[in-house]
Amino acid sequence: MVDKEKIKKAIRLLLEGIGEDPDREGLRETPERVARMWEEFESFRNFDMKLFEEFGSYDQMVLVKDIRFYSLCEHHLLPFFGKVHIAYIPDGVICGLSKLVRAVRAIALRPQVQERLTEEIADFLEEQLKPKGVGVVLEAEHLCMSMRGAMSPGHLTVTSALRGVFLKDIRTREEFLKLVGK
Ligand SMILES: [Zn+2]
Repeated sequence: MVDKEKIKKAIRLLLEGIGEDPDREGLRETPERVARMWEEFESFRNFDMKLFEEFGSYDQMVLVKDIRFYSLCEHHLLPFFGKVHIAYIPDGVICGLSKLVRAVRAIALRPQVQERLTEEIADFLEEQLKPKGVGVVLEAEHLCMSMRGAMSPGHLTVTSALRGVFLKDIRTREEFLKLVGK
């Protein structure tokens, strides 16, 4: 459970810390709004995992490209966002696109680093689907880099996580990376 009172106090202090008047009109409701936002993020995590499963005999690579995601870098609490490409080779269990989207959102909407987010998505799918293999590629723009000018705006960071046959079988891995254009 998020502690809304703590978040409200913290946001008020943050505003004071940067020299703003937290009681001026535009900011008066901001601590409450930020607290509600975090409550909403947390609610996304509570989706029913059991709804995840559909059974099928399809045993070729399933690839879902360009799932949009939004996350927050844990170093600056600024967004990083972009696309996730997910592939797996089923072993009796497949899952629908909406489940993948919800799984990504549940894992992404908390303080994260891109590498861990990539690994956690792969681990989650491995646990849920028990597939023969999973491949996950993330490409993201980090606002903490773009806004702070350390790197050129729009610069993309790419990470990947491979499990099972995607690790062991070079042809599976190459097919996956070719299909996602990496
Ligand atoms: Zn950052």
